[in-house]
This record gives sequence, structure tokens and C-alpha cells, in this order.
Amino acid sequence: MDQRLDPHLMPNLITHPSHPIHPLTLFAAPPYHGGSFNCDGCGLQGTGFSYRCTTCDFDVHMICATNPLSLSHRSHPHQLNLVFDPPYQTRAPSCGICDEAGSNHWLYRCVSCGFDAHMDCANNRPSPQQQQQRQQRHQQPRERRHGRDNIGTLMLTMVQGFLEGIAHQVGEMVWKCVCGCD
Ligand SMILES: [Zn+2]
Ligand SMILES: [Zn+2]
Ligand SMILES: [Zn+2]
Ligand SMILES: [Zn+2]
Repeated sequence: MDQRLDPHLMPNLITHPSHPIHPLTLFAAPPYHGGSFNCDGCGLQGTGFSYRCTTCDFDVHMICATNPLSLSHRSHPHQLNLVFDPPYQTRAPSCGICDEAGSNHWLYRCVSCGFDAHMDCANNRPSPQQQQQRQQRHQQPRERRHGRDNIGTLMLTMVQGFLEGIAHQVGEMVWKCVCGCD
């Protein structure tokens, strides 16, 4: 969870544009058996603080409810707006920032360009999956990769030298042979 968001500073009751017909109430824990809820914002399961409409069983992570309704991201020149119902249900949008498949949950979108982005990507919050990938990439230090490149180049140079040597020898042999026949 985002450390900047202190649940104690959050209002107990909000009206959110994703669910304008009823106010949403802040819950510290899901009132369900099993202790988790499905977020109607990002589609993922949640166990912590949520905003909930008790009339409709509408739940969103507290953090999803506090996503800015519009933002700008360096990967796109226009402002991106938070969209609660992606306009196409048949074709899953793909994220213009990470290139992964999108979901049909909330996403950031530039309507005029058809540019979509995951909420986490647009907010520069790495998803758990991306965090793992990034760690794996870090486990391969830069210097080791450079070392392997140098060996590769060295071997290529040696092979080239070897081949040139053979070509030279062949040339000499042919020349000698022609010479001997005369
Ligand atoms: Zn969520
Ligand atoms: Zn409701
Ligand atoms: Zn993304
Ligand atoms: Zn655009």
C-alpha cells in the first residue's frame, strides 16, 4: 500500500465519480467471510482499507479510490483521464506504457488517441509482477555482461585470424603447386 496515504486522514464518506449514485464508506477491513473483497476499480483482491457502497456491494481499494481522475505521463503528450468503464468489452485494451495487456477495469485513457494505460503504470507504481521482473534484471550485473561481450569479441577476432591464416596457407600451397608443375 502507498505509504503516503494515511487511512486516518481519509474521509469516512466520499462520493466517487465511478459510483455517483451512492456515497462510499471507508471500511478498515472487508465485512465479508474470508476477509477479502474484489476491487471494482482494479479488479484485484483486497484485504485492507476499502471504500464500499453497502447498498450495491460496490468495493474499491482505498488507494484506487484516491487515484487522480486525470494525470499526465511522460509516455504520452496528452492528459490521461481515469475511465471507469472501458468503452470496449470484447477487445482487451493494451497498456501504452508497459505494453502488457490491459483489463476491462479502470484505466487511464487519452480518448482522442485511443491511448490506454494501467492505473499503476500511469501512476508510476510498479505492479508486483513488474517489480519481480525488475529485480531479476538487477540480479545480472552490468559488469558481468560486459565481460562476456569482451570474450565474445576476442574469440571472434581469434577465429578470424585463424581463418585468414588458413586462407594464406592455401594461397601459398596453390602458388607452390603451380610453380612445381612448370
Ligand atoms: Zn483496486
Ligand atoms: Zn451503490
Ligand atoms: Zn501498464
Ligand atoms: Zn493523446
